[in-house]
Amino acid sequence: MSETVEQGAKPTLDTHALNALLAQMPAVERVIASSEAQALIAEYGRTQVLAAIRATLDGWRRDAQTGALALTADAAAFSIERVVAAAQRTLSERAQSRLRAVFNLTGTVLHTNLGRALLPDESVRAVVQALTQPANLEFDLATGKRGDRDDLIDGLICELTGAQAATVVNNNAAAVLLTLSALAARKDVIVSRGELVEIGGAFRIPDIMSRAGARLCEIGTTNRTHLKDYEAAISARTALLMKVHCSNYAISGFTKSVELDELAPLARSHNLPVAVDLGSGTLTDLTQWGLPAEPTVRATVEAGADIVMFSADKLLGGPQAGLIVGRKELIAKIKKHPLKRALRVGKLTLAALEPVLRLYQAPEFLRERLTTLRLLTRPATEIHEAATRVLPAWQSALREGYDVSVEPMFSQIGSGALPVDVLPGSGLVVRHRGKGGSGRALVKLERALRALPRPVIGRIADDALRLDLRCLESADESAFIAQLAELRL
Ligand SMILES: *Cc1c(COP(=O)(O)O)cnc(C)c1O
Repeated sequence: MSETVEQGAKPTLDTHALNALLAQMPAVERVIASSEAQALIAEYGRTQVLAAIRATLDGWRRDAQTGALALTADAAAFSIERVVAAAQRTLSERAQSRLRAVFNLTGTVLHTNLGRALLPDESVRAVVQALTQPANLEFDLATGKRGDRDDLIDGLICELTGAQAATVVNNNAAAVLLTLSALAARKDVIVSRGELVEIGGAFRIPDIMSRAGARLCEIGTTNRTHLKDYEAAISARTALLMKVHCSNYAISGFTKSVELDELAPLARSHNLPVAVDLGSGTLTDLTQWGLPAEPTVRATVEAGADIVMFSADKLLGGPQAGLIVGRKELIAKIKKHPLKRALRVGKLTLAALEPVLRLYQAPEFLRERLTTLRLLTRPATEIHEAATRVLPAWQSALREGYDVSVEPMFSQIGSGALPVDVLPGSGLVVRHRGKGGSGRALVKLERALRALPRPVIGRIADDALRLDLRCLESADESAFIAQLAELRL
């Protein structure tokens, strides 16, 4: 029966041919009984395989009805092997982990969106062991009694920082929230206006303060705060003086802030503690490797801080965690607060953190063994050589339409650490050849690189795609080149 074709509508299918086509598609029962499908079931289980086969056949039927499949397709096009192969593609795509390894060529070493610090092998082995074997997480092996998970590493943290006591929570935001909740609820915390930071991802000092139930007492001005401003603000309601590291911004020009060694004596004379949010706390003097100066936790403790809070996955180079160190009685009070239970770290974090801290006990090997430090101190010549090695493969993969060259680049430490400083290195710069449309071509390339088996994350700036090679270590070079064969532009 032929129907009239309306203007603008799709031509109606020949019902007879369509039915003949549909009849050639195998029944689900036949497909699932095949040996090919049985092999899939052994891997994915019957429920998932059945659903994938149904979805494949439904898709083909829909394509036939809408005319996307040629009506003349023969039986071979619908063989059981092809149904199973299509189902297998769906299943393996679905089974692929959503958390993927990528190449971080953004030029930001501690990239928060790409997982910050990379951990050394010692941590990897410790995590595998903690994952697969029972451990004395909260069990005192000496007495056979219940233990405290902080006991596993607080001695090490105190040794490395000179603090009396320490505790570990989920991240530095949690460290600040917990400290304020435990030490300053319903009381005033004095902070300079120049230090009311917002870290990316909604961490803002005033908001954390109110969540912790503390009253923020702002003093001074954006650019200048004096010791007398702190002094004038101290009252019977004051619980804490707090300093916050200006992690991700710098105030320059006509400025004044009160250093800790000035503030601490004032606090002590009023019997008040000083807490410092150090942000990316470092345990060692980074200037010995030519990196910019950053206050160490030890120096902060020595300058008179009663509590210091810092991240474990920024400059320290460990897993995500927040460390709180300081005076014994204050740490004890913090550990007793109910929020500590809610913010505590799991065994995997502790397993990963301990070997990282141990690396700091042998500082002469730190640069080689601590991944973050190795990347931050990588010599520009070495990065340039790596760029030169991978260049030909990239030029060949992108020969249609793009020019690739090696150029000097400046990487950043990232994670709010030392925002004004840059590390000299090298990278690949890809420019679109030909006139006009360059922006679109670069966006297309950037998307194609993100679709690779191990996505390559670079950045577009100044009409070019830039791939900073500081974080491409030599062990990864061949994989980096090999997957270019799969680039689909
Ligand atoms: C990074 C940072 C935080 C937040 O630390 P997380 O570990 O990311 O929670 C808090 N304060 C300062 C000053 C920071 O730099």
